[in-house]
Amino acid sequence: MRAEIISTLIFSFRYFLGGELMQQKTMWRKALIATAILVFVGFGAIIINLVRWQIIRGEELRSVALEQSLWSTELTATRGTIYDATGKVLAQSANVWTVVLEPFYLHKDETRSTVAKGLAEILGMSEEEVFETASNKDSYFAYLKKRVETSVRDEINAFMEENEIDRGIRMIEDFKRYYPYGSVASTILGFTGEENTGLYGLEAEYDNELRGTAGRLINSKNAIGDDMPFQYEQFIDAQDGYNLILTIDETVQSVTEKALETGIERYAVESGAVGIVIDVKTGGIVAMACKDDFDPNSPFEIHDEEERARIDALPEAEQNEAYTAALQNQWRNKAISDVYYPGSVFKMITGSMGLEEGIVNEDTPFNCTGAYVYYEDEDPIHCWLRTGHGTQTFTQGLLNSCNPYFMYIGQQLGAARFYKYFEGFGFAERTGIDLPDESASLYYDADSLGPADIATGSMGQNFGITPIQMITGICAVANGGYLVQPHVVNRIVDSDGNIVKTTDTAYKRQVISEETSKRISNILRMNTEIGVGTATKGYVAGYRICGKTGTSEKVEKYNNEVAEGVEKPTMQYIASYGGYAPADDPQYALLVFFDEPQKEENGGLNGGDAVAGPIFADIMAEILPYLGVKSQYSEEEYENLDATTPSVMGMMMKDAKTVLEEAGLSYEIVGVDDNENEVVAFQVPAVGEYIPKNGTVVLYTQGAENDAQGIVPDVRGQSIESARYMLEEAGFQLRLQHGRTSDSAIANQDIEPGTLERRGTVITVSFADNTITETFQFSDNEESDDDYDSGDDSG
Ligand SMILES: [Zn+2]
Repeated sequence: MRAEIISTLIFSFRYFLGGELMQQKTMWRKALIATAILVFVGFGAIIINLVRWQIIRGEELRSVALEQSLWSTELTATRGTIYDATGKVLAQSANVWTVVLEPFYLHKDETRSTVAKGLAEILGMSEEEVFETASNKDSYFAYLKKRVETSVRDEINAFMEENEIDRGIRMIEDFKRYYPYGSVASTILGFTGEENTGLYGLEAEYDNELRGTAGRLINSKNAIGDDMPFQYEQFIDAQDGYNLILTIDETVQSVTEKALETGIERYAVESGAVGIVIDVKTGGIVAMACKDDFDPNSPFEIHDEEERARIDALPEAEQNEAYTAALQNQWRNKAISDVYYPGSVFKMITGSMGLEEGIVNEDTPFNCTGAYVYYEDEDPIHCWLRTGHGTQTFTQGLLNSCNPYFMYIGQQLGAARFYKYFEGFGFAERTGIDLPDESASLYYDADSLGPADIATGSMGQNFGITPIQMITGICAVANGGYLVQPHVVNRIVDSDGNIVKTTDTAYKRQVISEETSKRISNILRMNTEIGVGTATKGYVAGYRICGKTGTSEKVEKYNNEVAEGVEKPTMQYIASYGGYAPADDPQYALLVFFDEPQKEENGGLNGGDAVAGPIFADIMAEILPYLGVKSQYSEEEYENLDATTPSVMGMMMKDAKTVLEEAGLSYEIVGVDDNENEVVAFQVPAVGEYIPKNGTVVLYTQGAENDAQGIVPDVRGQSIESARYMLEEAGFQLRLQHGRTSDSAIANQDIEPGTLERRGTVITVSFADNTITETFQFSDNEESDDDYDSGDDSG
């Protein structure tokens, strides 16, 4: 069903747009259609999941009153465990029990009453219900309650013993799926239904491997008389499922998820975010985070509180539909199911094509006048810098993210060569990642690629791809040109630990040469340098980050307003940042993507660098050292390096001083300061916290813990020097985020001005660069508002 919807849409897409030269109206239409595709792809998934859901929900507890004397019941196999790359348990099955009555053996009214009273209390059911179930005298088997915990089973056993009931109540082993880390990696893991069946994510993709083989309990009875039943019982043991060991690292996954949440909050992001961390050499996914997500322990609850409240406030008639849509949204793995315009992140791909084909080298000059005529008499397409970049080399063109330079490269490549690389980098096929519901991309093949398609395509604006396709392409740019197979399962092992299957990490093909890969990496590394590139917010001191920003338009969901002629659609954006590190031997790539940010920290608009860059840097700064990537600091970076605060709490003052001196840190004492034998009762900063190199640890003696507090000043808008002075005057210390300096003003401080904090507290600041809005421009006269609302009148 899903495939049909997608192929129909692709067909329509081609039909509407094929062959026609790109004009401004068509651009709008394209955006609308691409949007429609996004919506419909999602819708297809809803239908599938409704079917699944009804199956699960339909599986209510049933009372089975078997007239015949033979019954059998399934013995559930233990479902395999899912481990992260470091051996942490991400999904596990725990024992639960199904409580079954055998009314045949409960024929005395007195026994039935005792059972009804006792079990009703233990199981939290009504006494009448249990009594009624126990009263069907012809039945040998009647479900009472499923999935009770082992502690409840023990209570029932004790109850039976106490009341000398040896037959008539039976507990059958079953399993419940448990996800110890809650919502962490939920869109990857998915969840299971009541019958030990994987319904989503890995649980669905690897269901055959995980589920094992069910066993059976067969029971035959011949009721000749109440006291002399013939009985026969046979067990066929269940075979346990295999375990999965993932490439996902729970620590990296959690860091990525938290950073996305921070970004969503900070930039008022409306439609969610995606972050993918991948090993560029093997294609192993280390983290794949989508927000919003859900808790697989209770997948049918709306995880997002605001969304839950919104649905609860709806008229009753609308609640069901809204609930289903919200479930679908929280389950969807946007990293593989959503199709988007990659925008300027794609320029690293076009740039690689140009270098590989010898169309440009680092120094090839090109004059950007601010607009570019890509084909004969067509209207020009503008550079984001309307005044033009003037004459620039290719290196400068990429650092400037200059649109005309990339349209020029596309034009020189021509349709055949552009498509050859587009296909080579994997954008024309699904990546084949081992997760369900991967969407296909939307593109023109070589035969239908017109000049306008190439012009816009070279800037990443003419085709829809998935985030997983984009980062797989980035891996090839980084790793010497090899297209890897992204995957989340590293190996499958049986319950004894024997390897059943290992994932093949061989690359699919080489798209560009190792030399081209090195050359483009060198430019992308410069791109994160302050004063040099346009992706400077992704910079992390010591890690030679290569980065490229992307800002791409969406028109989605403003159609109605336009159709009613009320207002012009507000352009919505996806802000993204793609990059990798370290430049000299790339190991990990990261793509961060925010869908519809509503604000930025420096009041600018929609820059991929301004929104996605800082979050990219936050994630990289935390995960690269954790993943064992060696840092290498330049002299200037070394100067600004942070230290980690050692623990001196509980030490004698004189010992604490020695520890701090050895760590190259200064100290200051609050409280009794003339007694070397005084104990350190409190320290600021706390152990493990960042402190500027050569910084000061303030030692508080007993009873003086709250003696020295000050109000945090507002240093936003200040230069580093004046901010440092203001903070020190107030008793605080300044730390530069990611160890980077800048000539521009401070934009953010991590502790709100006006807050009361202890002396010695470290305030981390970050900068506002003159962030460039490198938005793709349609044309000058985009004000004309005809045809916004329909894509079906193409000529
Ligand atoms: Zn330009």
